[in-house]
Amino acid sequence: GGIGKAACVGGGVIGAGWVARLLLSGWDVAVYDPGPEAERVVGEVLANAERAHAALFDAPLPPKGRLTFAASLEAAVAGADFIQESVPERIDLKRRVLQAIDAAAPAEALIGSSTSGLLPSDLQEGMTRPGRLVVAHPFNPVYLLPLVEIVAGKATAPEAVERAKALYAALGMKPVVIRREIEAFVGDRLLEALWREALWLVNDDVASVGEIDDIIRYSFGLRWAQMGLFQTYRIAGGEAGMRHFLAQFGPALKWPWTHLTDVPDLDEALVEKIGRQSDAQTGDLTLRELERIRDDNLVATIRALAARRG
Ligand code: NAD
Repeated sequence: GGIGKAACVGGGVIGAGWVARLLLSGWDVAVYDPGPEAERVVGEVLANAERAHAALFDAPLPPKGRLTFAASLEAAVAGADFIQESVPERIDLKRRVLQAIDAAAPAEALIGSSTSGLLPSDLQEGMTRPGRLVVAHPFNPVYLLPLVEIVAGKATAPEAVERAKALYAALGMKPVVIRREIEAFVGDRLLEALWREALWLVNDDVASVGEIDDIIRYSFGLRWAQMGLFQTYRIAGGEAGMRHFLAQFGPALKWPWTHLTDVPDLDEALVEKIGRQSDAQTGDLTLRELERIRDDNLVATIRALAARRG
């Protein structure tokens, strides 16, 4: 057996990523997903993850855990030390699934929800043991990107947050505990602001989908990966640092903050336009090919940054 027994409830894009990270860290994993495609998706994502991990680490990979597909949620979570929920983002469905996990899992098992923005306090409603639920929000691909946002609800036990931090860190992740629960947490809040601007830039033909991606890739995207927002601009402030930077550029930010808050309707015409431009940008690359290009770039970036930071 592996170093622990995990259950993944939901095996789509995110669930399959969790399955891969857990198996490659030596956990045994039972998956429950009633969808007809789940076994195939998990298999293909796992193959990409093994390929990426072989390139990420110089040492041989540790022994993989055992993967099983369960016929029911109850069978998947029986005997589990840890359960990760990754079902579609609908509050009614999440509550129903979390209540079923709560009822069938061992009383001491930790439960993480992958939700991108639902409040943990809302997810806890109707659970018998809500103290052991945390939001553990990952980023795609889960098997490569280290960040996991840990968010506690009103009923979450402080001890569960500590357990979650240790557990996700042992999976090679960077857990960051969000201090207060707000919709979309922190990472997706920042991304939503960028999406809002990108949508109207495409809508008004200021730039195409491909041009916006190039503008990010060849400039601040490179800076963000290595120093984030604030430290990047501390340097941009020169000798006088952050206070000087904010004094100089703060007023220039006020205008867009008060004026550029409109979003175009994400109507059929805009969706079709983005879809057309995205198809042109992608050419005939398949989804799995795109994933492998992404993974190669991420592995190279993660390795380069790790080597410099020691
Ligand atoms: P997805 O549609 O790819 O996968 C959802 C899976 O859940 C499907 O395979 C479906 O068959 C399965 N499912 C449906 N009902 C189920 C049930 N009752 N029990 C078990 N499985 C069930 O969606 P996704 O992108 O993997 O998103 C899953 C969760 O992860 C959502 O909460 C989402 O907000 C979150 N998330 C997504 C991303 C992302 O980039 N896609 C990033 C972070 C978090």
